[in-house]
Amino acid sequence: MAAATDVLVIGGGLMGCATAYYLAKSGAKTMLIERNPSPGLETTARSGAIIRAHYGVPTLVKLALEANKRYARFDDEIGHPCGFVPGGYSVLVDEGDAQNLRDITAMHQSLGVNAQLLTPAELKEIVPAVKIDDAALGAYEPDGGFASPPQTVTAYAARAKELGADLRFESPVTEAHSDGAGWQVTLRSGETISAGQVVLCTGNWSKPIGALFGLDLPVTPARAQIVVLERPASFTGTFPVVSDLINLAYFRADGDSGMWVGSSDNADLSEYLPRPDGFDETTGAQAVSDARRKASLRFEGMEEGDKGGVQRTFSGLYETTPDWQPILDSFGSTLHAAVGFSGHGFKLAPVVGEAMAARALGLTDPFDISIFTLPRFAEERPIRSSYPYLRAKFLR
Ligand SMILES: Cc1cc2nc3c(=O)[nH]c(=O)nc-3n(C[C@H](O)[C@H](O)[C@H](O)COP(=O)(O)OP(=O)(O)OC[C@H]3O[C@@H](n4cnc5c(N)ncnc54)[C@H](O)[C@@H]3O)c2cc1C
Repeated sequence: MAAATDVLVIGGGLMGCATAYYLAKSGAKTMLIERNPSPGLETTARSGAIIRAHYGVPTLVKLALEANKRYARFDDEIGHPCGFVPGGYSVLVDEGDAQNLRDITAMHQSLGVNAQLLTPAELKEIVPAVKIDDAALGAYEPDGGFASPPQTVTAYAARAKELGADLRFESPVTEAHSDGAGWQVTLRSGETISAGQVVLCTGNWSKPIGALFGLDLPVTPARAQIVVLERPASFTGTFPVVSDLINLAYFRADGDSGMWVGSSDNADLSEYLPRPDGFDETTGAQAVSDARRKASLRFEGMEEGDKGGVQRTFSGLYETTPDWQPILDSFGSTLHAAVGFSGHGFKLAPVVGEAMAARALGLTDPFDISIFTLPRFAEERPIRSSYPYLRAKFLR
């Protein structure tokens, strides 16, 4: 059996589905192939889905700001909800990082981000449960927040399909050959797809899938453990995301009574190769006790968590590159990759999708993505924040 398409997107996570949407919207004959039975079951499914413009690299600030605007109008544009909760995003630092936060916030403001510096007391007015004794300074983005990963990825997939894209699930790619003008891609079923353009959006599988296309994509899976704690009855409903750069944790509402606790400490990540049949999604006792400790240090009433109150725990795989920034690049005129988002890609998906669609269609880049090229690693030109935090380092 053989099928033909103008553009073949490989991988039906958030990046693949967003790319397929923008391609279909432009009228291109688009096919997406995903090895799972439905979209977004891998890294996307475990995402905190936090949306913010807080980065130390101006290019990323600009991309994240534009993407944040798209999340705000997502439901109207896509016609299906993404579950965006624009509850705000905040950062807390101690004296050692205070000047850095002043500089980074000034940079954000100069780029048009609605961001402001707050005293810890002012932040406590916004998040009354937060403990501020050890904090020197805060920053706040009222337009940030978080969305729903399953809703967002399903929305992009559904809209792409409505616009004519051919989405194929349970269709893992097993082979690829260049025929000069494009690609012959073989699925496990034996079917071959002839594609003029291919966009790789293969997350943690980018190394083996990239190799089928002659690419060496340095993407390494790293396991991040998440603990959702019960909040006290006095602390329910949504609250702004709190990024605690003192204790290296981030906190987000999870439903009405839960608190998602994630680590911002690279030392807590473990390299973890995904197997074709999945990976161990459990969370270790150390991660649970760290999450409880960090939550009790940062929030009133969370000391109760020491006595129990774990709602659920799970792990997800960050798709890391050596500098913790994505690869958004083209290789010749028929192959493109959007991979290696290193645990912070959710917020960027709307702009990544449009940028990769433009690449596949041979259009001018709609956004500046020129810093995200693959050769930067071999050339030792990693993308680095000009404002590295003392403990969080380059994570922001
Ligand atoms: C715990 C956790 C918390 C996070 N929190 C945030 C956050 O708060 N904010 C934020 O911005 N980002 C966050 N992220 C990161 C964000 O979720 C990811 O960057 C993003 O979801 C990556 O999407 P993707 O489409 O590149 O990868 P994936 O969702 O992994 O999709 C890749 C797809 O490729 C498919 N595939 C693989 N091999 C094949 C094959 N042979 N044939 C066909 N298909 C194949 C896979 O099945 C998969 O569906 C978080 C990630 C994790 C793990």
